[in-house]
Amino acid sequence: MNQDHIQNVFLAFANHSCRSDPENLKKIFHEIEQNFYTDEIEFTRARAMISLITTLAKIKNAITAAELIEEILPPKMSFFQKAAINTAFDAIYRYRDDYCETSCSFRNRRSRWGDELFSGPNRLNCVECEQLEFAEILEQIINGHGYREIDQFSSLINSGFDYIRTGVELFESGGKTDVKEKVYLQFPEVLGLEISSIKCGFNEYFRDIMAYSLSKFLMQRENNRLRLKQCAWCSMFDTAGKAQKTRISPKTNKAYLTFCSGTSCKDDYYRDRRKGRKRGVANVEGSNPG
Ligand SMILES: [Zn+2]
Ligand SMILES: [Zn+2]
Repeated sequence: MNQDHIQNVFLAFANHSCRSDPENLKKIFHEIEQNFYTDEIEFTRARAMISLITTLAKIKNAITAAELIEEILPPKMSFFQKAAINTAFDAIYRYRDDYCETSCSFRNRRSRWGDELFSGPNRLNCVECEQLEFAEILEQIINGHGYREIDQFSSLINSGFDYIRTGVELFESGGKTDVKEKVYLQFPEVLGLEISSIKCGFNEYFRDIMAYSLSKFLMQRENNRLRLKQCAWCSMFDTAGKAQKTRISPKTNKAYLTFCSGTSCKDDYYRDRRKGRKRGVANVEGSNPG
């Protein structure tokens, strides 16, 4: 499997928010399938799991989701089916029963982001929480922080890579046989119903994959971190290196602003600024259409 596009995996995770549309999980998984090697049976299981996770994420309430599961599922299920549901439930609603307040290893996010994101009907689910932090890591890399200064980056790359195995395979190219790396992805074991302290759920699987995808991209070429960009208008991340640049912005401290290429982002940004100036709005820098 060719990993020249490995960055598409972490870009999909950073750009396609589960919060704006749970169906985005399928887009993310599609990129994972494109960039890792695994048994087709494993991918079939994973696809079914992603589909279940997407359904649960749309409900946005742990109790309602649990009740719905009770209702719709056949009373007699195999241990495997029950455990699979438990795994999907855990991916979205691990925070329930005070897990988030008392046991989650990422409890400090609450103090960084504020309580509003962790309570009420609009609280983050666990996948959304992971995505938000991942975007934060990319922003800090783009802002030029040293890797050691970004605590969450160190924690991400130390996540263990439990689901990734690298091997080597032979391949034919231009009439010759050569060797190349082959990266296998393991599907997380479904969680037994009795497991309360979760170390091997779907969030860890995603975390491993994103850690691998990002670090692989950063290692591919010297100074590859400089290719990572974020659009000043729509906040999407890109690594194409062909993002449009524009002049130095006196308001932000950035040397230049970047925008998605092939979109109206740059025009929209400046149109919005002009409008803001006319209305006498002092600072529309960093305004966002979402
Ligand atoms: Zn949490
Ligand atoms: Zn954009």
